[in-house]
Amino acid sequence: MLRDLLIDQELFEILRTRSLESDDHGMNTTEEVELLEKAVFNRLKKKRSVKKYRKLGVTKGDLKQIIQLADIMGLDTLDGPSNYELAMEYEEWCTVCGRCCRESESVFIHKDELNLLLTFNSDLEKEIIRNKEFPQHFEIRDSHPCKFIDPDSNKCAIYTFRPQVCRNYPLTLIGSPGKAQNSIHLSSKCNYSVNLILKKSIILFDEAIRRLEG
Ligand code: SF4
Ligand code: SF4
Repeated sequence: MLRDLLIDQELFEILRTRSLESDDHGMNTTEEVELLEKAVFNRLKKKRSVKKYRKLGVTKGDLKQIIQLADIMGLDTLDGPSNYELAMEYEEWCTVCGRCCRESESVFIHKDELNLLLTFNSDLEKEIIRNKEFPQHFEIRDSHPCKFIDPDSNKCAIYTFRPQVCRNYPLTLIGSPGKAQNSIHLSSKCNYSVNLILKKSIILFDEAIRRLEG
């Protein structure tokens, strides 16, 4: 009910389906999304009490629906902060746990990054191979786990020159060239990702309540 105040149901279904279609690239798997939503729900119910709005018909189901919307919609469509702006504002939510480096399926290197990377690290040449899916680009060889992470400190051995995908995580670019947008990788094990979705959920919940009461 609350979510309907923010987005048309049909549009929501289209966006949700599209988001889960990215499964092919090892991104938002349904199982992982459910785990993330559970983690966010447990935090959100402590931040926003359903009891307070029960007279207005708000239920725990509304919280779950709002979280599903936060997964897939950028707040900039409601004149709020973009995923990028939120991620930049709350960088401290990264606990440097190193999971994203240990559990990455591949580490993408754009062809335009390669020269800079090799100029300062010519030794890396043997560690870089053509990207299997987009052969005009590259990737780190044997990146599961990434060979550049220190297993004790979680520090990256090529931190200064690390690829753009590493700098952006948990944001990931999706869409076609010219229309690409920053999406949040929905990982229940990434504190940064869980908190970004929580923050978006709080903003969306408050906006929906404002519209409900208005
Ligand atoms: S981005 Fe997430 S998974 Fe990666 S180090 Fe930070 S908290 Fe851990
Ligand atoms: S290159 Fe560095 S930041 Fe990127 S996945 Fe490997 S260890 Fe992590």
